[in-house]
Amino acid sequence: KIMSQLDGGGHPFAASTTVVGFDYGEIKNFLTYLITGKDKPVSQFIKNDLPVVESDLSLNQVKSIINRFKYVVVLQSGKYAGILTDKTVNNAIKHGLKDEKAITFAQELITVSPSITFLQLLKVVSNYDIGIFPVVEKGFYKGVIYKKNIVETLAGLNEDKPLFNLPSKVKMINYSERLKRFFPKDVLDLLKEIGKFSEKLGYRSFIIGGVVRDIVLGKQNLDIDIIVEGSAVDLIRKYAKENNLTYHVYPEFMTGNIVFPSGLKLDFATARKEEYDSPGSYPKVEKATLFEDLYRRDFTINTLAIEITYSNFGKLIDYFNGLVDIKEKRIRILHTLSFVEDPIRILRALRFAGRLGFKLENKTENLLKHAVEKDLLNFAPTGRINLELNLTFKEEKVLDILKLMDKYKVLYKLFGITLDREKEKILVKLQDNFLIFKELLNINFPSSNYIYALLSNYPEEIAYNLLKKYHFDKEAKYLNEFLSAFKTIEESQDRYTIYKTLKSFNKEFLPALTSFLDSEKFKVIIDLLKKEKNPLIKGEDLIKLGLKPSPEFKTILEDIFVKYLNDYFESKEMALSYIKKKYLKEV
Ligand code: ATP
Repeated sequence: KIMSQLDGGGHPFAASTTVVGFDYGEIKNFLTYLITGKDKPVSQFIKNDLPVVESDLSLNQVKSIINRFKYVVVLQSGKYAGILTDKTVNNAIKHGLKDEKAITFAQELITVSPSITFLQLLKVVSNYDIGIFPVVEKGFYKGVIYKKNIVETLAGLNEDKPLFNLPSKVKMINYSERLKRFFPKDVLDLLKEIGKFSEKLGYRSFIIGGVVRDIVLGKQNLDIDIIVEGSAVDLIRKYAKENNLTYHVYPEFMTGNIVFPSGLKLDFATARKEEYDSPGSYPKVEKATLFEDLYRRDFTINTLAIEITYSNFGKLIDYFNGLVDIKEKRIRILHTLSFVEDPIRILRALRFAGRLGFKLENKTENLLKHAVEKDLLNFAPTGRINLELNLTFKEEKVLDILKLMDKYKVLYKLFGITLDREKEKILVKLQDNFLIFKELLNINFPSSNYIYALLSNYPEEIAYNLLKKYHFDKEAKYLNEFLSAFKTIEESQDRYTIYKTLKSFNKEFLPALTSFLDSEKFKVIIDLLKKEKNPLIKGEDLIKLGLKPSPEFKTILEDIFVKYLNDYFESKEMALSYIKKKYLKEV
């Protein structure tokens, strides 16, 4: 009965629940209240002490109203539309967005109805790590309930101090069994050892970010990032020296890595917080707690941490409800200015959405659209855009991601392009071509082939400028060769000319080149490459015929090869008898 009040459950002899945003002392107060307290109306907790503004007020105007308050309530046509914090308003103005409307960056937050009972309210408050809960009835704003008041009321029932000094405001789950299943034993042992070492130095260490997300999703990943509450550089140096391991440290960034004999590389960073001076710029960095380190991250799904410090090994820490978002397949930013502070996150959001088949959470989607519309990508360093695009091109779901980039007009903003049917067809072909040519030529084709496919409609000069703008320097360098090779191959019917053109062409870009050709030409090219790989006649065949190696070999082989390209011979025997007739006599 008690646990069910907190959305938990169990059976007659045992029950459990998860509560976020409270420390142990507060939870004890909660339980005491649930056991002894009577349910009561919440009207006494509803305060009406926040300024209220209309949604189309500019942030500059909001700033003059918000004054000494921490929050301001935003109304749209008289109805509740969200809450703006003083921090959001100040940061947005710092980023040059003073004329934006209040509604743009307002957060909807979790609202409650004025008829909610105290017990129900406890449930809500225990589920969300938020300081205020707007009270809304039929869409109209009625006031707010402060979590602080609820906690104080509960504390009044029980004067005990908290039992432990655990980090508060956190959901913790034991993941040690999951870790055992996820990591190979040698990796798990290493993490344990580093956790022990870390504890000896008085530091706490956590694996965080992408690898934890993938542990939850059950997707293989050995790209392990470790955050150290303490000094990562100190830990790396001491651990590596003690164990005689190769390591690199970058003290100015408070990061580094250790390379193990198995080839495994572990990346370490001191828990840091960052300040962004202008949209997209590289941030200033200083030491911080794990919470602050996670708070600067891009999406809730990337904010999970698992502690590896010996005495807490395997505890998953979820400050931002990342687990729920993974379960619900949602990409959610951590605060409303996220895309403004770093517009690269626009590209990352779509990359993760495409890769994982996740949706953008509503507010995140609106803010992403807004950021694209406001041309914020123009403020991002083009080098970082290049990195993100290259990561996108390497993704298995690259087509889904490009489609999302088209849907949200990102391709249009970056390159002035949209994906029509024709271009989609080229992209699908290109994806197949990577496999076909890999089999045939065994070359590692650069994923930047995609950039040629994307820019295929443009005249050379425009394409060249776009390639240069986004630092696809190699692709810019080969553009002219690419286009003239394409023209020759497209127009020529002569197999030898096509072959010669291919021969002098940088084969790295063959997948893109061939994705523009019709199926007949495509077949010809495959045929030519196969013939090149397995020539009908080799030098050794000439020797067997009694010919002595000489400069003439080249002439003979070339003659045979050209005829072979044009399907002149039906078999090797035919070629041999041709050689006998034409060259043996002469010799
Ligand atoms: P992948 O599986 O693609 O490697 P990842 O999550 O490990 O995904 P990285 O690009 O390696 O991605 O970044 C590591 C972590 O750093 C991310 O999980 C994220 O928390 C954080 N991060 C990376 N880029 C940003 C950014 N632009 N803004 C905020 N946080 C970021």
